[in-house]
Amino acid sequence: MTNKCIKCNKAVYCSNLCREHFKDYFEKKVKRIIKKFDLFSRKDKIGVAVSGGKDSTSVLYILNKLGYAIEAVTVDAVIGNYTKKNLENIRKVCKKYKIKLHEISFRKEFGMSLCFIKSVAHEKGLKYSSCFICGILRRYLLNKHAKKLKFDCLATGHNLDDEAQSFIMNVFRNDLILARRQGPVSGYIVSKAFVKRVKPLYLCSEKETTAYSKLMKFPVNYNPCPCCVGAYRREYREMLDKFEKKHPSVKYNIIQFFLRTIYKMKKVEDIKVNACAYCGEPCAKDVCKRCEILIALKKDK
Ligand code: SF4
Ligand SMILES: [Zn+2]
Ligand SMILES: [Zn+2]
Repeated sequence: MTNKCIKCNKAVYCSNLCREHFKDYFEKKVKRIIKKFDLFSRKDKIGVAVSGGKDSTSVLYILNKLGYAIEAVTVDAVIGNYTKKNLENIRKVCKKYKIKLHEISFRKEFGMSLCFIKSVAHEKGLKYSSCFICGILRRYLLNKHAKKLKFDCLATGHNLDDEAQSFIMNVFRNDLILARRQGPVSGYIVSKAFVKRVKPLYLCSEKETTAYSKLMKFPVNYNPCPCCVGAYRREYREMLDKFEKKHPSVKYNIIQFFLRTIYKMKKVEDIKVNACAYCGEPCAKDVCKRCEILIALKKDK
């Protein structure tokens, strides 16, 4: 028995819809998410953080199609052929849709690639994973350049699966502060030092985003990053995928629970925003994570 689209008689492509109806549904869903969470307006200058993956490319394409004032910004962590190919794809997409692209590179900013930073850190006995270092440095650079480029907000490609994983991780670690900073609009602390971060795919599942990206034939890399092997997050992804198979809607329910509880809690005005003692960037402690990493790398030199 072949499944039929709930809107017409064609074969189902994804989410009980045929290819055409799915495309329409997905784009309308993103539009609804933008409205529902009041992510940005037509007056805003929006930076879209692109990685060359399916999620951020879908965000870039849809926001451009909806007529928002967007510019793309990418951070190259210099992970061999992986980021080289991603960068080529990003350039291709931006050229095709006439979107201004800002390229930032670990090598230009820090004088070394992610792999180099990681290997030096490991030599010195630091237990940082590639993803930890990459995430911290990437966020720092995006915030710094978003401010420089005068973006009103920074849109990222985080989807429902990413957000459900993050929330469960924070629950398992009993980390209320981090959990309160999650959500469709993050950088929960109201401070001019942080550029507002928004997630137009907040309620779109990984499955739907992959289906949309493949349908649109975006030139993107579907292979995982070679540095992601052994990442802590992978365990959470596998656990939730297993659950979702048995109990559909688990991820959606996790997010709905988060939105009805933690997200509604009083904003974190009580959390002090310090300036890093070394670089002046905002941070929760006295020294920001970026400086902590780079200082640690230079320690014994
Ligand atoms: S998987 Fe980890 S190392 Fe690779 S790009 Fe993402 S955060 Fe960086
Ligand atoms: Zn249909
Ligand atoms: Zn710092």
